[in-house]
Amino acid sequence: MSKGKRKRKNRQTADQGVDEIPHLSKTTPLQLRYYGDPVLRKRAEPVEEITEAEIKLAEEMLVTLYATGNGIGLAATQVGVLKRFLIVDLGDDENEKFDPLMLFNPEILSSEGESVAQEGCLSIPDVRADVKRPEKIGVKAMLLNGKYIEFEASGLLSRVLQHEIDHLNGTLFIDRISGIKRQLLRSELEQIQKADRPY
Ligand code: ZN
Repeated sequence: MSKGKRKRKNRQTADQGVDEIPHLSKTTPLQLRYYGDPVLRKRAEPVEEITEAEIKLAEEMLVTLYATGNGIGLAATQVGVLKRFLIVDLGDDENEKFDPLMLFNPEILSSEGESVAQEGCLSIPDVRADVKRPEKIGVKAMLLNGKYIEFEASGLLSRVLQHEIDHLNGTLFIDRISGIKRQLLRSELEQIQKADRPY
């Protein structure tokens, strides 16, 4: 998921951001997949165990997310990897702290309430729309150390997690807006679909 057009301070390029995490400074960002790419409509597969491949994917996805400047969440599907894995970093506009949450096989166990807020997606650049989702969710997921955790999320974290879990099921946020509103976005979506991408 992406924030508005506002770039985070001190995180405008990949180099600036990842220098703070020395281990990541030599990792190259992955190619983002955009609306129209069939991979975004596929269902990702559960991850049985954490191997070096998963750790490498986590590092590459972090670098990819930070390189965007306005990304706060990324699902593996968005870099063309069909594994149930997502990362979220809501950051901290004041202090620019890195605080990534990396979850394998995330599952929504419960949901309550309702909230409407604007969303954007790194795979659907420049399109933003209000999306109605449950306000609070209970989540179960596996961490990078292979252990499962359960926690509750509300507010922005809840929204980003729901947006990213949707990606793992091949669902995009524009699927969750009304037909009329989607109709209004049609030409923007067509532009993205037609754009020449470097893959
Ligand atoms: Zn997205």
